[in-house]
Amino acid sequence: MSRQYKEAVGVRRTGWAALNRDPQEDKIEFTCPNCAAQGMRTARRERALYHFVDGFLQDEQGEVVQCGACRTYVRIAPVVMLHDQEEARRFEAVFSEELAGASH
Ligand SMILES: [Zn+2]
Repeated sequence: MSRQYKEAVGVRRTGWAALNRDPQEDKIEFTCPNCAAQGMRTARRERALYHFVDGFLQDEQGEVVQCGACRTYVRIAPVVMLHDQEEARRFEAVFSEELAGASH
């Protein structure tokens, strides 16, 4: 199990942070670190597995997904759960470096 995956930060929006989306959908959003495509997948891990780290509910183990555009396997970790617009803004401020790094 020593295979190396490229890593990306994932976002799982719930509640007020997911108003522009079908509330029945529970998705993790990520940006492929290889080709910069926007990806989405259904969240599989229980919310109980998320823990508060640096002020956010995060799943540090994350999930491995395959990019639909370039077929690269990507480890999405951490997955950060956002509940409202305030948290979404705070997330973008805290993780801006990681997010920028994933786009090139
Ligand atoms: Zn890709």
